[in-house]
Amino acid sequence: MADVKKEFTILITDDEKMNVEILGSILSPMYNLLISRNGTRALELAKEHKPDLILLDVLMPDITGFEVIKTLKSSDATDKIPVIFITGMTSAEDEEKGFFLGAVDYIAKPFNKAIVKARVNTHIKIVDQMRTIERIGLIDPLTKISNRRGFEERLSAEWGRSVRERNPISILLMDIDKFKTYNDTYGHQQGDMALKTFADVASQTLLRPIDFAARWGGEEFVILLPGTDTEGAVVVAERVRKNVEAATIPGSDDLITKITVSIGINSMIPEADMMPKDFIEKADQALYKAKESGRNRYVVSEV
Ligand code: GH3
Ligand code: MG
Ligand code: MG
Repeated sequence: MADVKKEFTILITDDEKMNVEILGSILSPMYNLLISRNGTRALELAKEHKPDLILLDVLMPDITGFEVIKTLKSSDATDKIPVIFITGMTSAEDEEKGFFLGAVDYIAKPFNKAIVKARVNTHIKIVDQMRTIERIGLIDPLTKISNRRGFEERLSAEWGRSVRERNPISILLMDIDKFKTYNDTYGHQQGDMALKTFADVASQTLLRPIDFAARWGGEEFVILLPGTDTEGAVVVAERVRKNVEAATIPGSDDLITKITVSIGINSMIPEADMMPKDFIEKADQALYKAKESGRNRYVVSEV
């Protein structure tokens, strides 16, 4: 192990010494570790060191893990750091709350060594892939999510996998409503803020690490949902639509502005002779129908 270069840093936060020690012994052979025993210290360390991943206990005496993640997600410096909750609680509501607040995963106590390793390695791998994507110019500079080229690469990989595994795959093509008017009314800079907000809301709405959001161009965005059928895609689309409608775009204090989005959905189990291009084209036609029939809604493509 001596020759392993530790490339990634993980912040472990748990008020119980024993938990910290167990996680430390599992992860220290592969990762640099930062340790904190309370939420306040965790926030300090996260800000100062920008770890690649955070393991966060939910129940802690000073501030709860839920409060910690809220603070992490509200700052540009820390909002992209993936957070895995470690918890003894196993209720579905708590899990859902964690995901809603932006956690990428859960690890249950008492720890299972293999599960801890597998979960952590998976999320570190995703972090690593995201960095590669950024490095080779597949990230949209304004919204910090994937650009169209990044999306096309991902689609081509997931499409092949869907064909081989006979799994459904879904796409949501999304276009902000009356965005020209928004720009004309509030200015291009405020328009850019709206695009950033949209990208944040769309990405935060996605709960599974495999789901993928990208900026298609201008005020159009796209979400890929591998392994998801029409029914699931409709749930995601409606959630995106609602969350976008509910969001207030940051701007000067007295300016409260909102946007809405129209969404075209297409889902299929692709066959070897089908083209991703046609898959997208069908979603685009559905999007057109969503616009035509009144905007701020989704339409599912008919096969
Ligand atoms: P619809 O509901 O039919 O989609 O109407 P729309 O006004 O959104 O459609 P249209 O395609 O006519 O307008 C798109 C607008 O998006 C026009 C363009 O100025 C704006 N836009 C495209 N890219 C950007 C950008 O990077 N920043 C800003 N601020 N605006 C952009
Ligand atoms: Mg458009
Ligand atoms: Mg538009």
